[in-house]
Amino acid sequence: MIYLENYIDGELQPPINGRFLDNYNPSKGVVYSQIPDSDKADVQAAVVAAKSAFKSWSEKPKEERSKILVRLADLIAENLESLAAAESIDNGKPLSLAKKVDIPRAASNIGFYATAILHYASESHSMEGAGINYTLRKPIGVVGCISPWNLPLYLFTWKIAPAIAAGNCVVAKPSEITPMTAYLFSKLCLQAGLPPGVLNIVHGLGPKVGAAITEHPEITAISFTGGTQTGATIAKVAAPMFKKLSLELGGKNPNIIFADCDLDKAISTSVHSSFANQGQICLCGSRIFVEEPIYEAFKKGFVEKIKQLKIGDPFDPKTNQGAVVSEDHMKKVLACIDLAKEEGGTIIAGGNRVVLEGDLADGYYIEPTIIEGLPFDCRTNQEEIFGPVVTIAPFKTEEEVIKYANSTLYGLASCIWTENLTKAHRLAASLETGIVWINCWLVRDLRTPFGGVKNSGVGREGGFEALHFFTEPQNICVKIQ
Ligand code: NAD
Repeated sequence: MIYLENYIDGELQPPINGRFLDNYNPSKGVVYSQIPDSDKADVQAAVVAAKSAFKSWSEKPKEERSKILVRLADLIAENLESLAAAESIDNGKPLSLAKKVDIPRAASNIGFYATAILHYASESHSMEGAGINYTLRKPIGVVGCISPWNLPLYLFTWKIAPAIAAGNCVVAKPSEITPMTAYLFSKLCLQAGLPPGVLNIVHGLGPKVGAAITEHPEITAISFTGGTQTGATIAKVAAPMFKKLSLELGGKNPNIIFADCDLDKAISTSVHSSFANQGQICLCGSRIFVEEPIYEAFKKGFVEKIKQLKIGDPFDPKTNQGAVVSEDHMKKVLACIDLAKEEGGTIIAGGNRVVLEGDLADGYYIEPTIIEGLPFDCRTNQEEIFGPVVTIAPFKTEEEVIKYANSTLYGLASCIWTENLTKAHRLAASLETGIVWINCWLVRDLRTPFGGVKNSGVGREGGFEALHFFTEPQNICVKIQ
């Protein structure tokens, strides 16, 4: 049995209370490691370490901070195979996906901010000869980073990299459901020579460790990615303490397909945008709206492709769909499928748990599921499912599809498929989402603002937006006459 450890003050250490939690391999439904069941005392130790590291880290020339982060990025890339295998075992995702997406992107996140900080400049405002203002961008101090289970190392590093690059010290908590790569990452931080206390990783449950980070008076900014309900809980505690907050929350993203699209491309990309990572990506398009003239053609092509997806051992290179992350999550997704049936939906593909053979028999597998015949405003079309389930419905006019698309409380991402660019731009501007992809999905440039509107979040990550978040501007005004 593997015992994970916290990473505090540059040392790997067990939780102070000595307690551990079971960690599951979802592809087999078995416990395969133990993670620290940390509490307030470990968070306190992490804050003390971060505070004492802050002066020297924040005053270190950015070139030196950058070099350490470049080393860390290189170490992630060098350990691609073992990190990808660990991510796949911990999360249930296909190994091929972890190798192609999760781990390379984690290395890019660190590499991106290692160099972005060298180009980050602040502003000055001249007052026509009467005076001049210049703005300093100062690191905040000790910041908290809390991340979810769906893209574990990818999203963990997406927060930590800009925080550290900007000169802050971090107390971070990965999801207790997928803690393994964060633990392996702490070993790489030691290898890269990250000074003790700059990054502290405390493992454990959200309501204990996450809450202790949120409440801690000396952690003055929180960057959180996870569910909308958890985001609200964090905001309730952090807002009256006047903490800076960045919240990346849930989604219910529309995928809008016009009759004049390139149908083959729209179908093949919709397979990924619906079911990549078993549909457990906040950006997945879970509501597909198809213009009436091509509704039947799209549906036929899409269903055919979905039925060809191979559900199986995440380590098999031919597998397209691995396991969902946990037994609880599997039950939740299956309950959502039952609700869709109660609401009058027709299952046109999938709809069931899959029981595989041998040691995978207790794994958490669900068929990729397509549901039609539901109104846009039913619960299935309004609430986040976050699994391998999409709905499909026809529409007649642009006005109608804009109404459907914008009808949910969420506003993270959307996709538009059309060869008419005027229409695409017009529609993009009227969608209430932080991100719009035209004729593509999940094409990412790390310099762009990333985040959602409405219940999908507050603030933006990515590019200099994250460096703005992790620094405090101070304006200095000089009279020169
Ligand atoms: P979650 O909200 O249950 O957990 C996220 C993190 O918050 C975990 O580390 C958890 O331990 C911690 N947490 C739980 N309760 C807490 C509390 N009271 N105080 C502080 N921390 C607490 O989310 P999840 O199930 O891990 O992830 C799935 C959700 O994340 C989905 O809703 C998905 O849409 C969302 N998500 C959003 C984005 C985005 O960029 N907008 C990206 C990925 C996932």
